[in-house]
This record gives sequence, C-alpha cells and structure tokens, in this order.
Amino acid sequence: MNVNWRAIPQANNTLAVLSAACEGYGYHLEVTDEPRPDVTIYSTNSVNERFYRDEIAGAGCITIAGGPHPSACYSEVAEYADYVVVGEGEYTLPALLAAIEEGRGPPPGVATAAGYTPARHTVLLDGHPPFSRIKGFVEITRGCPFSCGYCQTPRLFGRCMRHRSIDEIARYASRYRDIRFVTPNAFAYGSDGIHLRLDRVERLLRSLDGRIYFGTFPGEVRPECVSRQSIELVLDHCANTRLHFGAQSGSDLVLRRLHRGHTVEDVVRAVDLCREHGLVPIVDFILGLPFESDDDQRATLDLVRQVTRGGKAHIHYFMPLPGTPLQNDRPRPLLPETEKVLGKLALGGRITGSWMDHEIRFFRRTSHL
Ligand code: SF4
Repeated sequence: MNVNWRAIPQANNTLAVLSAACEGYGYHLEVTDEPRPDVTIYSTNSVNERFYRDEIAGAGCITIAGGPHPSACYSEVAEYADYVVVGEGEYTLPALLAAIEEGRGPPPGVATAAGYTPARHTVLLDGHPPFSRIKGFVEITRGCPFSCGYCQTPRLFGRCMRHRSIDEIARYASRYRDIRFVTPNAFAYGSDGIHLRLDRVERLLRSLDGRIYFGTFPGEVRPECVSRQSIELVLDHCANTRLHFGAQSGSDLVLRRLHRGHTVEDVVRAVDLCREHGLVPIVDFILGLPFESDDDQRATLDLVRQVTRGGKAHIHYFMPLPGTPLQNDRPRPLLPETEKVLGKLALGGRITGSWMDHEIRFFRRTSHL
C-alpha cells in the first residue's frame, strides 16, 4: 500500500515524528504536494485547514486527516475526510494504516462519518523516536498542567507532563550540531510543570554535546520559571542569547480570566532578570482578548513598551481555537491608539507579530496528528 504525506510547512515536525512512528510498523511516508493513491495523510491547524478542505474532499484516494483542528472538530472533518486521527498519532496512525490494508474497521482514536471511539492509550515519548529518516526537533516534553483559555495544547496532549528520558534525548540530539527542543516549558523538564526540577534540567544539559538552544524557539518557558538559577543554567550550558516566554496580557484581571497561572509582576521580574544577566527577553502578547476592557488593553500596551526597552515583543491578535474554552468568543477590536503605538514600535524593529492579520497567530508547532 502506498502511503503519502501531504506537504504542509506548519506540520514539518509532525511529519518527522509520524514518519518515524510509521517506519517502525513498515510504512514509508512519501511526501507529496497533491493527494495520491493509495492513502494521503493531512495534518492541519485551524488557519490552514480551509485551504486543504476541498482538496481532501475531492481526493481520488483514501484520506486521513489529523492535527489540532481535525482533533478538535472530528465530526465536522469526518464529513469530508475518510478517517480522522483524533489526538496523538504515533500509535493510532500505523494501527489505522494496518486496518485499511487488511480491510478492517478503524481502531480506537479514529473518527469516521459512522462514529468515533476514543483512544485507550497515551503515548510515552521514550516508546517513539522523535525522528528517523526525516529529521525534526527533539520533543522532550508533552502535555501541560496549565489551562490557558486560548490554548489547544492541554486539550490535545493532556495536563500531565510526559518527558523523554535524558538518555533518549542525548541519543537523538547527538545527530545535531545545533540542538533545539520542542516542549511547552523548557524549564519544566523532568517535573510536573508546577514544581520545577532544575537539577534534572541541569543533568539533561550536561549530557548534551553541541550548541544547545534552550528556552527559545521552538520550546519556550513560562515567566514565573525564570529565576537566577534557571538563567544560570542557560548561561552555563547553552548558546542562546535570548529567552522566550509568554506574558499575553498586562492586566492581572485578564491573566486570571485566562487561567494563565502567573501575574504581570512575574513577567516584569522575568524581563528584569534576563536583562540583568545579558539575555534578551522575547515576550509573547495576545491583543483583542474577548474580556479585555479598554484599560486592560492599555495596560498590555504599557507592558509591551516596558518589554521593548531592552527586549522584543511578539504580538498576536486573539483567534478563538476549536476545542478551547474560548472557542465561542469573538476577538474585540484594537483601540486606535493601540494600532498607532504598535505601528511605531514595529517600524523601529522592536516588535514583530500579526496583530493586523487576524489569520496568523500562535500555534503549537507540533501536534502529531
Ligand atoms: S499556553 Fe503554554 S502554559 Fe498555557 S496551556 Fe498552552 S502550553 Fe500550557
């Protein structure tokens, strides 16, 4: 059976993970830019899903869809795709390919127009390589104990952090000169995500040989985890000169309603600590949150200004994502003064992002179907 993977740039790391998983079961994924027989697999998010919907519906082959959007809206997607892999694909996708080849019904974890039975397993990272023939970033942690209202990560991967072992990480990292990791919070490695185990982070960093980028693209940190001790680990073992974390809002009221689990003061402290130690803070913000008042938006703007005095801000416009608590909320418009200030900061190269283009915003970089 010929199994194809539809090339979608946002899903490159997912391709690396799932290609390795399928290889283990004897399936070789051929990358294609159009649907091809016998089977073509798509991994989409809520922005790009609409560009592939008609292609999937009209494909002259068996189609499998997965990723953040199909996982959250599986009934809707099952109306135009033959199969929808809901959630993690490392085990479910090869099991589905085997079922198709043998003419059996789909395994648990797959939705079709006829119905859906949830998966009965959880993926343990050590049981599945982060990549094989097609290289990708090494995913060190999956799952997040926080529940930020706009984020799909805990809904896709659960709220319990699962870590890859240090030996396995070192094995795959040794294939890179520049080592980068996928994780929802790099400083949470080895912990439950709330009570940090920086001793384990240190053991991990000491076990690696190469230029390590930790707490920056594609695996960031949370602001309350930035401390003298965690910054020293980066300075002692890593090559990055930047630390990337999310502030999201300059209003404590908004942060509480988002269930962010940190305060504005945590963000200010993290920014100051970075500057004190010579790291450039890169800070994410979301504007246009549904329950943000004019004053909340002004407070965010003030925090953006503060951050950009010695760091950079990355601005997004709120987009409700399916499967999240804010999925039915609408973004509120930006104040004219907000657009003006952001425009000026952007011209000076102090902020980046997509506050004018509401279609582009932050998505976790890995979904693994
Ligand atoms: S935004 Fe980050 S901390 Fe919040 S739920 Fe998502 S992954 Fe977790």
